[in-house]
Amino acid sequence: MECLTCDATLALDMTESGHAQAFDVRHRRVVVIGAGQAGLSAAHFLQRAGLVAGVDFEVLDANPTAGGAWSHRWDALTFDRVNGLHDLPESELGDVDPREPAREVIKRYYSRYETENGLSVDRPWRVRSVTRIDDGASRVRPVERYEVTAEHPDGRTAVYRAGAVISGTGTWDHPYVPWYPGAFGGRQLTTRDFTSPADFVGRRVLVVGGGISAVQFLQMLDEAGVDTLWSTRTPPRWREAPFDPMWGLDVENSVAARTRAGLRPLSVVAATGLPLTAEGRADVERGLLVSRGAIAALTDDGVDFADGTHESVDVILWATGFRAALSHLAPLGIRDPAGGVVMADDDVSVIVSPGLFLVGYGRSASTLGATRAGRRAARAAVRATDVSATDVREPAESVTG
Ligand SMILES: Cc1cc2nc3c(=O)[nH]c(=O)nc-3n(C[C@H](O)[C@H](O)[C@H](O)COP(=O)(O)OP(=O)(O)OC[C@H]3O[C@@H](n4cnc5c(N)ncnc54)[C@H](O)[C@@H]3O)c2cc1C
Repeated sequence: MECLTCDATLALDMTESGHAQAFDVRHRRVVVIGAGQAGLSAAHFLQRAGLVAGVDFEVLDANPTAGGAWSHRWDALTFDRVNGLHDLPESELGDVDPREPAREVIKRYYSRYETENGLSVDRPWRVRSVTRIDDGASRVRPVERYEVTAEHPDGRTAVYRAGAVISGTGTWDHPYVPWYPGAFGGRQLTTRDFTSPADFVGRRVLVVGGGISAVQFLQMLDEAGVDTLWSTRTPPRWREAPFDPMWGLDVENSVAARTRAGLRPLSVVAATGLPLTAEGRADVERGLLVSRGAIAALTDDGVDFADGTHESVDVILWATGFRAALSHLAPLGIRDPAGGVVMADDDVSVIVSPGLFLVGYGRSASTLGATRAGRRAARAAVRATDVSATDVREPAESVTG
């Protein structure tokens, strides 16, 4: 059922009830997964290389609106509280009201960018799997390596085949909560579920985590009159220098060696430390930003700390970071036994899976890094799908993980 002159071919799949279901298979040179800073940058540079959105490449995004993970951030995260947002390629953010929620500023900015550049992002489509096409199935289209299956919330399925996949799915969908012995009977939530400090008035909240989000939560909750405690596994790593727009470069430099070795990327704070502002210094002096140390165990009414003390709390807010959201790539078996994905020296190419690129991963997990990674991945994807090149059909290594 392959039609060389058509954009779409037909594939059959079996439903759970055993009925054959027909899908249009759309053929693209490149599929970009995710329309955050990394995916939009990649799409921009594909376009700059002469590829046409919706024809040569497709951008699929799980969110119902523009904005990437920023579209989910809490109201109280106003623009003046972010660590520096790098501009999207060839588009200035311009003047913004620093007291406006970052979520609204960035949704508007990304939305304008998509429209002005005609990137025709398809949403909401969540990619469920990326699989390798074996050589036989793609014989007539020699540079098709991957099949990408996406689902719409209304139940529709879309299938794309492409020579290259650029995955920029961020971390927001994959919050990390460490394990401790015992069980807590009160409310628990992660950074992802936080909406407003007003939800916690009159309650005692333990904020767990040594990152910037934890610090901001403590400050916000305190401003709202909420009684707080702070737990970090290791003492807070304050740094004297404030964050600036080049903050992402620190992240890049510190994380690169790990991701090239296939290790799981470190948290941003482990890489860069926590900026100690004048406000932060005052909060340390008055005891707000002083950690009680590590948790040893959870109890029904609170926690036991490693120093042998016990505290009762009503809520535990886990601001303990995120892991890369890569479950859609599981069929490719790209994860190294060391826990990460072994990346090439360009920091975007997955060594064991030619034609697969990760952007916003590890070293490029800042808006600056994501923007630069998008450019490198787009250029590499164009090369990897260039039919005039001789080395585009190299078989992918089979790796388990
Ligand atoms: C609380 C917090 C604060 C931060 N503050 C800053 C800051 O001030 N400055 C800075 O530079 N960086 C900051 N970062 C890091 C920053 O968010 C990222 O580096 C950057 O914005 C991420 O861009 P991205 O494109 O990689 O991912 P995201 O913005 O997460 O975009 C990923 C997109 O992919 C979509 N997606 C996910 N899975 C799928 C799927 N299976 N199928 C289809 N689509 C999918 C998502 O819906 C989303 O739209 C912060 C991160 C956090 C968590």
